[in-house]
Parts: sequence; structure tokens; C-alpha cells
Amino acid sequence: DVLLEVRGLCAVVEATGKEILRGVDLTVRQGEVHAIMGKNGSGKSTLSKVLVGHPDYLVTSGTATYKGENLFDKEPEERSHAGLFLSFQSPVEIPGVSNMDFLRMACNARRSSLGLPEFGPLEFYGFLSPKLAALNMDPSFLDRNVNEGFSGGEKKRNEILQLAVLEADMAILDEIDSGLDVDALRDVAAAVNGLRKSDNAVLMITHYQRLLDYIKPTYVHIMEAGRIVKTGDSSLALQLEAGGYEALKESA
Ligand code: ADP
Ligand code: MG
Ligand code: MG
Repeated sequence: DVLLEVRGLCAVVEATGKEILRGVDLTVRQGEVHAIMGKNGSGKSTLSKVLVGHPDYLVTSGTATYKGENLFDKEPEERSHAGLFLSFQSPVEIPGVSNMDFLRMACNARRSSLGLPEFGPLEFYGFLSPKLAALNMDPSFLDRNVNEGFSGGEKKRNEILQLAVLEADMAILDEIDSGLDVDALRDVAAAVNGLRKSDNAVLMITHYQRLLDYIKPTYVHIMEAGRIVKTGDSSLALQLEAGGYEALKESA
């Protein structure tokens, strides 16, 4: 079944009116993994932020349907409760909020919206422990403030920990591989693969073929100037790696 359907999506930076997305078309079905590649500044992060309802952007035309409903009718929080998740390219630090409290609040908000009972602190720790271990994260990360003083790689692991806790249906991962060493990349990819189910989907933005060796994409899209200009299978990423964007254009 179709999970996310984006048609002709155009969006501007609200403060300046600058158009960033210029007619994005994208269909994501359950069980699929989509990779979006494209030069810096092509609008990849903007697409992901518009989908989760980031306040900096205004949708000017086009549609996005998530689980059969108009995504843009929903507040960002409702989108999250409906299982849409974005791991930010640059995860924010939240001083004064412990990672453990943050994760439990987010998890319980999602559980409530699914009609499931909330986790108490002890129960939540039991739920969280194996996920933490799978990501090779030390339990001490739970006592620290969200992302505060975390290294780049630790922030990325923490984003995937959030994803694991929320059990999202549609995970958008923006450059989850950037700044990761090989071990961290392997842990993060294994965690993402471990979360894949027949009824959920992953949309990952990346510059590197390397990530796609670990997480096999169903489709690879190339984004340019606010549009998806080319779609193919995993061989498209290999072509890109070999020849760059210019070679890809010539072959089109
Ligand atoms: P990518 O993720 O593909 O590198 P982005 O979506 O981050 O690209 O950005 C696309 C373009 O939109 C860039 O030129 C960027 O500077 C601009 N842009 C994105 N968000 C904003 C913003 N909030 N204010 C001003 N310009 C923005
Ligand atoms: Mg970029
Ligand atoms: Mg980006």
C-alpha cells in the first residue's frame, strides 16, 4: 500500500518567499526504502522538513498524502504521532532535558495516540535497554541532556535510538551517515535494517553510495533545483559514484 504520496509539491522559505521546492513528485509504498541523492542546495533537507511541518517553510502548491490523509492538515506533532519521523541533518541540543525523559515522553505520546498504555520509568528502561545495546550506546547517554556535548556520531546514533523508540512507520533520515566512522555507520545501518518491516518505509537522504551498501534501496532518486529529476534502482547510485552528476545528466 502507498504510505506517502507527494504530488507537485512547491514550497518557499516563509520569511523571504524564496522558492526551494519546485514540483516534487514521490510515491513511497510500505516495505520500500527510497534514497534521495543530489548536490548540496538541491532541496533535499527542505523536502524532509516540509514533510514534517517545519515552520520555516510555506507550501505554495501541490499535495502530500500520508496514510491516505492530507499531511498538510496535520500539526507537526500529529504527524509524529501518526508515525512520521525525521532525523535531522543537524540534530538539536536540548539543554535541561535528560535524554531518558525526552525519549520516554516521545515514546509515550506515540503510544497514547496508538491507544497503547504509557510506559512507567522502569518499564521504559526495559524497553529501551536492548535498543541502546543494539546501537552500542553506553547507558550513560540516557542521563545526559539531549544531544548536549554529543559528538557528531553520537548524535546520529541518538537519532536512530529515537527512531527505534518511536517505531515510526515512515522514517526520513537526512544524512544519517554524515560524520560517521565505519563502525558507527555499521551500527546505525544495522539498527535501521533491524527496524524495517513489511508495513513501514524509509526515505534516506545521502551523498554516499557507501550507506546504500548497508541499507539496500528499492529506488534511488536524484534531486536537482527542487525537483526529483531522475529515478532508478540501486545502480543509479553506483553510476553517480562513478561519474558524478554531470555524467548522469549526459546519460539522461
Ligand atoms: P540540501 O539539503 O539539498 O543540501 P537544502 O534543502 O538544505 O539543500 O537547501 C536548499 C536551498 O534552500 C539552499 O540554497 C538553502 O540555502 C536554501 N534554504 C533552505 N532553507 C532555508 C531557510 N530557512 N532560509 C533561507 N534559505 C534556505
Ligand atoms: Mg546539504
Ligand atoms: Mg541537506
